[in-house]
Amino acid sequence: MALVSSRGITIAGPIPGSLAKYCTGKMMYVNVAVCLSVFLLVIGLSIGLSINNFKGSNALDSAPLIDGHNDLAYNLYALLNNNLDKFDLTKNLSDDKIWGMNACNSCYTDLPRLRKGKVGAQFWAAFVGCDSQYKDAVQLTMRQIDVIKRLVNKYPNDLQFVTEADSIEEAWKNGKIASMIGVEGGHSMDSSLAVLRLYYELGVRYMTLTHMCNTPWADSSLVNDSAVHNLTEFGAAVIYEMNRLGMLVDLSHVSHNVMRHVLLRTKAPIMFSHSSAFSVCHNYRNVPDDVLHMVKKNNGVVMVNFYSGFVNCNSSRNATIQDVVDHINYIRNLIGADYVGIGADYDGVSSMPEGLEDVSKYPDLFDRLYESNVNPRWTKEELEKLAGRNLIRVFKAVEEVRDTLAKSEHPRQDIINARDIYNAEVDDNIKPGLCYTGKEWKDLNQTSATY
Ligand SMILES: [Zn+2]
Repeated sequence: MALVSSRGITIAGPIPGSLAKYCTGKMMYVNVAVCLSVFLLVIGLSIGLSINNFKGSNALDSAPLIDGHNDLAYNLYALLNNNLDKFDLTKNLSDDKIWGMNACNSCYTDLPRLRKGKVGAQFWAAFVGCDSQYKDAVQLTMRQIDVIKRLVNKYPNDLQFVTEADSIEEAWKNGKIASMIGVEGGHSMDSSLAVLRLYYELGVRYMTLTHMCNTPWADSSLVNDSAVHNLTEFGAAVIYEMNRLGMLVDLSHVSHNVMRHVLLRTKAPIMFSHSSAFSVCHNYRNVPDDVLHMVKKNNGVVMVNFYSGFVNCNSSRNATIQDVVDHINYIRNLIGADYVGIGADYDGVSSMPEGLEDVSKYPDLFDRLYESNVNPRWTKEELEKLAGRNLIRVFKAVEEVRDTLAKSEHPRQDIINARDIYNAEVDDNIKPGLCYTGKEWKDLNQTSATY
C-alpha cells in the first residue's frame, strides 16, 4: 500500500510488515492512538521531505514558460536572408559554423536547447532596422512575419502558431511550443492604422511602440531627457486602435514619458515584452518605479530582459544570473508577483549573463529564485505566474477589452498629418517625402508653399 496525496504524488512507501501487524492485530484497539501517531509522523515527514524536494524549476512543469521576446527571426534574415532550407532548428547549434557561439555573438536558440529550457511559449519578434523607417519598413516586416510563419510550419511536431490566450496552454499541454508574433517597433506600421489592422489579421499579437528610433508619434527610450514628440494625438489613436483590435501594447523601448502617457490612456492592460528595473540598473530601457506602480494599477506585466547591459550597470564586472534574479525580486518586492514575467531577449543581444548563456538556462533561473533569500519566499504559485500565467491573464484581459469595444466601436480612420512625418524626416536628416506618394502628401504639397 502507498499513501497518495490529492495531487497523485506518492508520499509514503509500503507499510512495513511489523507495523502492519502491530496496527491490525488484536492489540489494534489498545494501540490505535499509537498507530495514528506513527502514521501522522510518517505522513508529516514525507510531506516535509516533498516540500524540501521542490525546486523552483518544477513550476515550469505545471505552468507554461512564456518568453516575451526572441529575435531568432532577425538572425534568420541577417545570416540566411530568410532561406530556411539552410537552417535546421532541430539540431543543437551551439558549435555550428554559422549559428554556433564562436561564429555568432547573438545566436542562442535551437529546439534541443528550447526543450531543455522548458520553454512552453515564445513571442517571436518580427523586427526590422530603424534605417528602414520612411522607406521599406512595411515590406521588410512582412518578410519577417512570413519567415516566422514558415518556421512554425516547418516544425509542426514542436511549434504551434497561436493567436489566442486560451490556445497557449492548450498547445503547451500537447507538447508544442506555442509560437506567437510580436512586431518590434512602431516604424514597422509606417504611421498607418490600415497596416496595423492588417498585421493583426496576419496574427501579430503585440506591437512594441518604438524600437531605438522615434516614430513621428512616439518617442523611444533614447530621448528621455529631452522629449521630442512624447505620445502625439495620432499616437493616442494607435493605442486606441490596438485596444480595439485586441493587440497587446508593448512598452519596451519607449521613453519613460511615453510609458506614462500610454498607461494613462490605454483601456487594456499593457506589457513590457523585454524590459528590466530602472532602480536596479539605470538604463533608460528599464522601467522606473513610478511606472511599475502604474503597471500594477493597470494590471499589466513587465517581462524581465536578461541582456547583460540592462541588468548590470557596473562595468567593472560581468553580469551574472544573480543580476536577473535581483531585477525580478525587485519588481516582486515593489509591486507583487502578479506583474512580472520573463522576456529574455535571446538572439537580439550580444551578451548574456553568466549562468544564462542560452535558451536552455531558464530552469536554473527558477531554481535560483526559489532559493533566493527573500521574504516572503517565492511560492510555487508565484513562480507559475512569473513563468507564464501573468502573461496569459494580461492577454485574456486584452481580448475581453476587444470584445467589449466591438459592441460599440468602429475602426479608427485617423490619417497622420503628413506634416508630422515631414518634420520627423527632417529631424532624422532624411530628405522629406522621398518615399511617399499618398494623397495626404499630395495635399501637403499643394497647401504648403515652403514644402
Ligand atoms: Zn528590443
